[in-house]
Amino acid sequence: MKSMIVLLGPPGAGKGTQGEKLQTELGYIRLSTGDMLREAVRNGTELGKLAKTYMDSGALVPNDVIIGLMKDKIQSLGKVPGIIFDGFPRTVEQAEALDKELDVDLALNFDVADGELIERLTQRRSCPNPSCQAVYHLVYNAPKVAGKCDKCGSELYQRDDDKAETVKNRLEVYRKNTFPLIGYYTDAKKICTIPGTGDINAIFEQVKKAIQ
Ligand code: AMP
Repeated sequence: MKSMIVLLGPPGAGKGTQGEKLQTELGYIRLSTGDMLREAVRNGTELGKLAKTYMDSGALVPNDVIIGLMKDKIQSLGKVPGIIFDGFPRTVEQAEALDKELDVDLALNFDVADGELIERLTQRRSCPNPSCQAVYHLVYNAPKVAGKCDKCGSELYQRDDDKAETVKNRLEVYRKNTFPLIGYYTDAKKICTIPGTGDINAIFEQVKKAIQ
């Protein structure tokens, strides 16, 4: 069973959804840099203030900041059954830094066409509760009660960077900085590409197969 897993793919490809399912099913720790940064923004820390200036426009937070954050996090974990990296690495420099910390077993790459990504991101609604952070789609994965999180009852919100004007920029940033990671993990013979469209549970079956 593979235990150190990187989730790759553009924003909106389903990394968070599939990562959460893996976390629940396998007891792995899911580390999402996006969630960590949003928490820092909410708490008004120095990191949060800095990160917000990049996140608001869909740009990447500088490598040294993210690498430092992730290193500290990894080193603070004791023995864990596995780690799912969601939204990290996003640049080749970050991938090289991660390789210095641990051995990645598998990079799962979710493949989704651009048109669908834009639709997914702009229809996405998120739970603001730091210990929940569930995500919904207004049409395909709607909450049972409109506007409320099924899991914790919090009021759902639309992330600023899921608004149409920022989504386009995030996809361009992905193409320029993160897409090269597919080559990086292909060269390392660690990549597995999964079509990220269709039924969430059917995609999850493929994810589980790849991890076996
Ligand atoms: P996400 O929730 O993964 O879509 O991340 C939201 C935003 O946080 C991104 O658009 C970036 O501004 C920032 N971010 C998250 N992860 C990283 C990373 N690994 N490197 C740089 N910026 C990141």
